[in-house]
Amino acid sequence: MAAETHVFQTKVSKLLKLLANSLYSNKEVFLRELVSNASDAIDKLRFAAIAKPELLGSDPVFSIRISADKEAGTLTVSDNGIGMTLDEANEHLGTIAQSGTEDFLEHLSADEAKNAQQIGQFGVGFYSSFIVADRVTVVSRAATAGENEAVRWESDGSGTFTSELTTRASRGTDVILHLRDEDKNFLDPWTLRETITKYSDHISTPVYLLEEKPAEEGKTPDKDWVQVNDAKALWTLPPKEVTDDQYKEFYKHLTHDWEDPLCWAHNRVEGDLEYTSLLYCPSAAPYDLYNRDLQKGLKLFVERVFIMDRADAFLPNYLRFIKGLVDTNDLPLNVSRELLQESRVAAKLKKALTRRALDMFAKLADDKDAKEKYGVFWTQFGRVLKEGIVEDPDNRKAILGLLRFATTKAGASDITVSLADYVSRMPEGQKNIYYVIANTPEAAEGSPYLEGLKKKGVEVLLLWERIDEWMMGALTEFEGHKFIPATAADLELEGVKSKTDEAEKPSETSKEEDDKAVARFKAALGEKVADVRISDRLVDSAACVVGQHDQMLTEQMRRMLEAAGQ
Ligand code: ADP
Ligand code: MG
Repeated sequence: MAAETHVFQTKVSKLLKLLANSLYSNKEVFLRELVSNASDAIDKLRFAAIAKPELLGSDPVFSIRISADKEAGTLTVSDNGIGMTLDEANEHLGTIAQSGTEDFLEHLSADEAKNAQQIGQFGVGFYSSFIVADRVTVVSRAATAGENEAVRWESDGSGTFTSELTTRASRGTDVILHLRDEDKNFLDPWTLRETITKYSDHISTPVYLLEEKPAEEGKTPDKDWVQVNDAKALWTLPPKEVTDDQYKEFYKHLTHDWEDPLCWAHNRVEGDLEYTSLLYCPSAAPYDLYNRDLQKGLKLFVERVFIMDRADAFLPNYLRFIKGLVDTNDLPLNVSRELLQESRVAAKLKKALTRRALDMFAKLADDKDAKEKYGVFWTQFGRVLKEGIVEDPDNRKAILGLLRFATTKAGASDITVSLADYVSRMPEGQKNIYYVIANTPEAAEGSPYLEGLKKKGVEVLLLWERIDEWMMGALTEFEGHKFIPATAADLELEGVKSKTDEAEKPSETSKEEDDKAVARFKAALGEKVADVRISDRLVDSAACVVGQHDQMLTEQMRRMLEAAGQ
């Protein structure tokens, strides 16, 4: 069969063009991607062989092998994993499966440095080969395919690729990179060894590098396969034996993110429920955090065997940004997504892992040296975490402790006040926690409803996100303090001892004048209001609309209902 020429999916071509321009300062990551693909291919076969041991044939020992050929100018990454058929190669190496890619590529910023960061987060995978190679050849034979059913795929990364049937003696995949002249440094034994070691440290399959042995006197130098990693899955090690750098590198391997994670939690639990979990919080929210198709969930291992990616039965939706893995002996090896949905063990694990994640954030919040990091966490994920207040009543207390607010004291731009901070500085006699919700930070801060509260020295939480109304609707109290909207008719401020109380009393009007004014307002407003009252809530403004406390219908909610035509 002659080689057939195929055109890359449009978004692949777009991505390839972008890669060349944005990733020059991060070139070596192509090795991480290729080693990671080799390791994935082996994991997939290991899993498939549980049901079909014959797939392993005469080649049951897994390995990843990397070799450089200086004369040919090529670098080859080989594995004896699951391999690809011709059709699979055409599909997997010619398209991007991830949904939302089009949008993502459309919306990349013009700033190249920022682009590089975003693309890294997106995960360029196999296509990163073209950062250093002007031609890539893949020779692959699927575990199910015969010797003559292997595939040879090739492309210069400019818009098309070719593929044809070929022969390969055993199953597995070779990715052969024809390096550009300026990237030939990756053939250098030192550079290669250093880079490979970094990216294979935590991989559970042995990674070998073909190295030249020191030449014996008068003989031509010999080559030898040298193992560069200890091939122990990182999460199976005791946490004390794992360095921060190893955790970070493992995170990048798992997620393809190029940035370090913000924090992580590694737990090995024995007893009633046995599991090991390694949870990570990224340092930036993914571009599609609010997209229904977001790829969420953990990697699931059973007895160290990789079972599936993106198992979403182990964390609640409001923690969908968490990455990581769970390894357990309490689920069967043949567990499916459907089974997970109904599994009691999965439900128990979900409960446990949710606690682990919330604990991880609580620790970050308490860490005096990580103030900045908690700020990043809150900016990136605070809005999602608020969903948890409504979604997860069982953990509401823990989530409440993680919330951060802008307040009238801190200002609208300083979203760092915890409820504990708020309560600790309440003036004597204040019983409730006050808040105001508006459409923008400015509107919240400038709300006339705040005047009286401010005058009394009472701090008010400022809220303006769409989720806030929903969240506050679900919240009743924090440590015995009720949440009261500043728009409520009765603010229950009696008893608050403020410094300004006696100092400057507002000018008195006579009862008679007051009654007259009220009567005029009532006549003018008619049925539109339930009542008109004299109040000392305002200081500078003349009048405001308040809600009935028992209904707790706030101004914002009223506007939302109006908008919805109710
Ligand atoms: P991802 O790994 O995120 O799926 P990649 O771009 O890295 O994306 O790889 C695309 C697909 O190509 C993989 O999902 C897999 O199906 C296939 N593939 C890549 N490398 C290999 C390999 N060494 N062996 C088998 N299949 C591979
Ligand atoms: Mg990959």
